[in-house]
Amino acid sequence: MAKSGSLFQSLFRRNSGDKKDGGGKPKLQMPLVELHCHIEGSVRPALAQKLAERHGERIDRLLDDEGRYKFADFMEFMDVYDAVAELVRTEEDYFDITVDYLTRSAEVGLKYVELGISSAHVEQRGLSYHGFLNCLESAVAESKKTHDVDARFILTVVRHWGVEGAFDTALKTETNPHPLVTGLGIAGDETYRDPREFRPAFEVARGAGLGLTAHSGEIGPNSIRATLDALPISRLGHGVRAIEEPDLIPRIRGEGITLENCPSSNVALGLFPSIEAHPVAHYLEEGLNVTVSTDDPPFFDTQIDVEYDRVARAHSLAPAQMIQFTKNAIEAAFCEPKLKDKLRRDVAAWEKIAV
Ligand SMILES: [Zn+2]
Repeated sequence: MAKSGSLFQSLFRRNSGDKKDGGGKPKLQMPLVELHCHIEGSVRPALAQKLAERHGERIDRLLDDEGRYKFADFMEFMDVYDAVAELVRTEEDYFDITVDYLTRSAEVGLKYVELGISSAHVEQRGLSYHGFLNCLESAVAESKKTHDVDARFILTVVRHWGVEGAFDTALKTETNPHPLVTGLGIAGDETYRDPREFRPAFEVARGAGLGLTAHSGEIGPNSIRATLDALPISRLGHGVRAIEEPDLIPRIRGEGITLENCPSSNVALGLFPSIEAHPVAHYLEEGLNVTVSTDDPPFFDTQIDVEYDRVARAHSLAPAQMIQFTKNAIEAAFCEPKLKDKLRRDVAAWEKIAV
């Protein structure tokens, strides 16, 4: 997890909020925003262990000798991920994992997150959609009692579960609107069916006033082009292999598409050999609206401050450049203007002191 003593953290990571250090100099954590994190993917091994005990299961096979999730490639990652997600079964479980993620992330500077949720997973566990959302709302309220953090949720369709299921999920945004569900997304096997088949689902969600995002571009640039051609999205989950097709970069910039980059996830799953080789800083230089997120943080030995830290160190980015990721995320966020204004004020307060 967090490596102590790195340049970025020693300069900008603080224990909590607006405090004075020993010399009386005011300090403030850099405000962090992440747009791409899956709720079941946020479960730490220790919490997975707790859930397993709660349900009379064992998870030793999922962990290495140091207690981290164990996988060698993408297929194994999916197996471990599914096994952990399967442990999240009740409203109490969802409440606990959401509070855990929010409070731990807020302690290192997170101000706002959009968490991916899957109503199909939830229904498989026999939970009601509304009961589930109410429990998430309670978890956000609970976290806000102790931390300055906010969250919205992106209802995420599992692509390889079918076009019909995607449409049914999207219909919920119309028939069962909830103020904290502000986006529709799609994840899963990018090779499954043509993205155009999912357009009706996205149109329904757009009609219900939701923001739209799609995982695309982990398998290659053609997938990004097909997604942009097919779906009325404003953000790409990852979109990271756009760099292989130079004409895609002007297109992404021209259409104002935001990239939800998750560097540690991409490195762990073999898309790039290292954070140094990841194009996140190149996209920033190119003036793209690129952001930094964790995807499934404990699976990739990261959390949001660690992710910022890794990018800063690998690409020698100064604080004034790093804060651009937060600014980009705020502008691309699927939340109401009042909350965006609050987040902009958080950034301005930090810039006054740190830049
Ligand atoms: Zn993702």
